[in-house]
Amino acid sequence: MPELPEVEVTRLSFADRIAGARITALRVGKPLRWPLGCVPESLVGRQVLGVRRRGKYLLMDLDDGLLMWHLGMSGSLLFGPDRGAPQAHDHFDLDTTHGLLRLNDPRRFGAVVYAPSEQSAPANKLLGHLGVEPLNGGFELATFHQGLRQRKAAIKQVLLAGDLVVGVGNIYASEALFLAGIRPTTRADRISRPRADKLRLAVMDVLARAVKKGGSTLRDFSAADGKNGYFQLEAHVYDRVGEPCRVCGTTIRRLLQGQRSTYYCPNCQKP
Ligand SMILES: [Zn+2]
Repeated sequence: MPELPEVEVTRLSFADRIAGARITALRVGKPLRWPLGCVPESLVGRQVLGVRRRGKYLLMDLDDGLLMWHLGMSGSLLFGPDRGAPQAHDHFDLDTTHGLLRLNDPRRFGAVVYAPSEQSAPANKLLGHLGVEPLNGGFELATFHQGLRQRKAAIKQVLLAGDLVVGVGNIYASEALFLAGIRPTTRADRISRPRADKLRLAVMDVLARAVKKGGSTLRDFSAADGKNGYFQLEAHVYDRVGEPCRVCGTTIRRLLQGQRSTYYCPNCQKP
């Protein structure tokens, strides 16, 4: 599943090139997770001002309204001059004067949704509940620690929920908790302020490094210019059950939390 770094890497791979383009045509293929929310032809002629990211959504600002793109479980975007005829899993094309942006999504949990503004109902429905952004300087200790103190759930689940801080998916939650030395099952409200700060810094560090390295090597992921990342090759704990901890040599363990696998070192990570 594309996580925040993959989405950010995708954004960086085409945002500059599509900025300023005019929409010339749209092709809507098989139904995605949510409908577009407008007549496709009504967007022809509008200009793409830029592409921002909010959580795992790419927000494409138009001179009138915006398009919200989500990659779902298996989506990827490709942008280029001529992509040829759409293939079986190509479900949405945005043709512009700068090139064609194409959503490939075999499982069709992704979506492209139009909203007249970021304050409108369709945008608020998707973006309204999102927590703070971890990568834009607004992820502050006081708010984060206060949020943890109000939650009794396991810290890994709190990170995944996304209402305190967005974009910390399964891989990055496991890695950040390792770097912070916190056991994934620890109750959020029992985490001290200094440990919360360690975790906050670890979340920012792990996500920023992943973006820098081009996202992870998840099977279904490729950035819009076709380059693959390799973050997963360097994971401390993720997907390493039975292997020795890279820090202390203790065997990495796996457990299930909310039906998702969690990996941790029982020696380096304290309850
Ligand atoms: Zn260890």
